[in-house]
Amino acid sequence: MGYDYDLVVIGAGGAGLAAAVSAAQHGLRVLVLESEAEIGGSTQLSAGMLTAAATGVQRALGVEDSPERMFQHYMDLNQWRVLPGPTRMFCEQSGTLIDWLLDLGVEIPAQLSRNAHMPGLTRAGVEDVWRGHVPKDQGYGLVQALDRARRRLKVDLALGSRATDLLRDGPAVRGVVVDGAEVTAPSVVVACGGLAQNPELVREYFPDAGIAGDSLFVVAAPGSRGDHIALAERHDLSLFGHGWGLLLVTAEFQRFHHWQSGFPPASRIHVNADGHRCMDEDAPYAVSPGILKDHGGFVWAVFDEAARTGLPPGYADWAADRVLEEVGKGVVRRADTLPELAERIGVPAANLIRSVERFNALFERGYDEDFLRHESLAAKQVDPRLPPVETGPFYAVRMLPAELVCTHTGLRIDSRARVLDTGGRVVPGLYAAGEAAGGILGERYVGGGNSVAHALVLGRLAGQEAAQRLNDAGSAA
Ligand SMILES: Cc1cc2nc3c(=O)[nH]c(=O)nc-3n(C[C@H](O)[C@H](O)[C@H](O)COP(=O)(O)OP(=O)(O)OC[C@H]3O[C@@H](n4cnc5c(N)ncnc54)[C@H](O)[C@@H]3O)c2cc1C
Repeated sequence: MGYDYDLVVIGAGGAGLAAAVSAAQHGLRVLVLESEAEIGGSTQLSAGMLTAAATGVQRALGVEDSPERMFQHYMDLNQWRVLPGPTRMFCEQSGTLIDWLLDLGVEIPAQLSRNAHMPGLTRAGVEDVWRGHVPKDQGYGLVQALDRARRRLKVDLALGSRATDLLRDGPAVRGVVVDGAEVTAPSVVVACGGLAQNPELVREYFPDAGIAGDSLFVVAAPGSRGDHIALAERHDLSLFGHGWGLLLVTAEFQRFHHWQSGFPPASRIHVNADGHRCMDEDAPYAVSPGILKDHGGFVWAVFDEAARTGLPPGYADWAADRVLEEVGKGVVRRADTLPELAERIGVPAANLIRSVERFNALFERGYDEDFLRHESLAAKQVDPRLPPVETGPFYAVRMLPAELVCTHTGLRIDSRARVLDTGGRVVPGLYAAGEAAGGILGERYVGGGNSVAHALVLGRLAGQEAAQRLNDAGSAA
């Protein structure tokens, strides 16, 4: 049977472009469908950080690592509730992914980086060794490099083309439906991203996003509508990852990703509803939403006038004037004394005072024996001897898991990126990659760069597998 293409890819984000490029490198005729007017998806908006083990960048910096070590850490952090086979594959292929990207012109210099915005190798807080690879020009740089390769390899791209269904030939896939028309191919990669922009699906598949109530804001790309969920329902495909995704902890008044919003003052104390300090205020983003959940969903960030006036200018939310504006709205609470502030936020005054006194004593020495925050501050190259919280008026604002970044419920895959149906059978010719794939992204976001690396590793693998399938069919004919 003649097909329009050898492979159709749904979505031109990181996963889709990686699939298209790798398949075309193996000689396949590929079409990429993109529902929006431009390519890139969430990948383009991201810092582009990639978690990867045993890379040349690590070796050049003397960082000893291995896929086995990454796997153990990944599985332990997720309490072995993700799929071991696909996760092992992810860890093994993360290193060669970096080589592949470097060959495509992505630049990741062999230098230590302080954060997700400085090219090089970084530690985002929860890795056992430094594994966060930050490319030059971040997610935009990654997408541009992949798109240059796509054009060089003559892969067709259709913008403004939303795939709505799969074509089947018995159990096997034979193409997709787009704008009511059929495009045929023996293999299809579903790489349409997550479901963060679809409130109904978020309620169903990531209910923790409801903890922040009206404060919730979504930074994922507009195309993240969860179209893979409808494909699963219609074609009896298995889903994996229910209830998981990434929320970042932000102040109740924040509305943007931290690049625009800015950062809360370092001299702040997170206390729970009992007024007790309850966490490392700089706990890695991989684990902080879970800590908040244990404390009823939010904590109060308490800081003083010196911290407010010391906020650096130029940010949209964490700015001195903006905090006052929010005092006017009643979102940030203010009082001249700590007992009055305690009353305003409904916590026992004696506990709040004790928490502040203890915080001031610990950070005068720069050693937080309660929550080890001095280590988190040191990783960010911030002096752990923090100014005391002592100058009234005092402020308190709720910190909530309110920034929705990505979601993890996807089409269940095996360790070759092949999609399984609800009976556990491989659907011939159907692959999934990125947020649309389920099995590897778990409850805990591992390290910096879990999701971008996952998208690109699976995309690249799906392209290779589609090529192998075509080759096998050719040999059999
Ligand atoms: C602000 C921000 C910062 C982040 N920083 C990082 C980071 O540094 N490191 C990290 O690991 N993760 C990060 N993430 C998460 C990460 O970027 C994403 O999880 C990952 O890039 C998803 O890749 P993807 O290819 O699955 O989806 P996307 O990149 O979103 O691509 C999916 C594409 O499919 C298109 N599409 C959707 N439906 C259809 C359809 N039916 N037909 C055709 N096309 C369709 C979409 O429009 C989109 O272009 C960040 C996310 C955001 C929003």
